[in-house]
Amino acid sequence: MPISAFERLDDLLLSNEGDVSYRLEGFKGEQGELTLQLTVGGVLLLSCQRCLEAVPCSLDVDSLLQLIPEGAELSQEELEDDTRDFLPVIKGLDVAELVEDEILLALPVIARHEKCGLPGAADAGGRVNPFAALAELKGKPN
Ligand SMILES: [Zn+2]
Repeated sequence: MPISAFERLDDLLLSNEGDVSYRLEGFKGEQGELTLQLTVGGVLLLSCQRCLEAVPCSLDVDSLLQLIPEGAELSQEELEDDTRDFLPVIKGLDVAELVEDEILLALPVIARHEKCGLPGAADAGGRVNPFAALAELKGKPN
């Protein structure tokens, strides 16, 4: 699926070139509940919040989505179960939207490099001004 197909992702990405791969499989759970397993892989290029260069972010999504009837109430136990998500069956299933939702959930809130590649960014401020050092020497009484 081309990355450019995801409109909501567009603002977050430095480039929407490339593709993500996904796999969607349906199966019946222990109590006969319909569950989907969605896996998404690929690499997205986010822009670093500090230096605005590209930050590659590899996707490794593996989600279980349990289908529930529209309007069904979830028990507290189900709400607290974070091994899977619940997906109300409203009208059909938009796979592209589902994939995009999962990608949005998987992305870091703030994208940035652990260490930005900007020259001088790492050691700025720690440097001694040679002229200041000289002035200090000159100012010393003999
Ligand atoms: Zn950076």
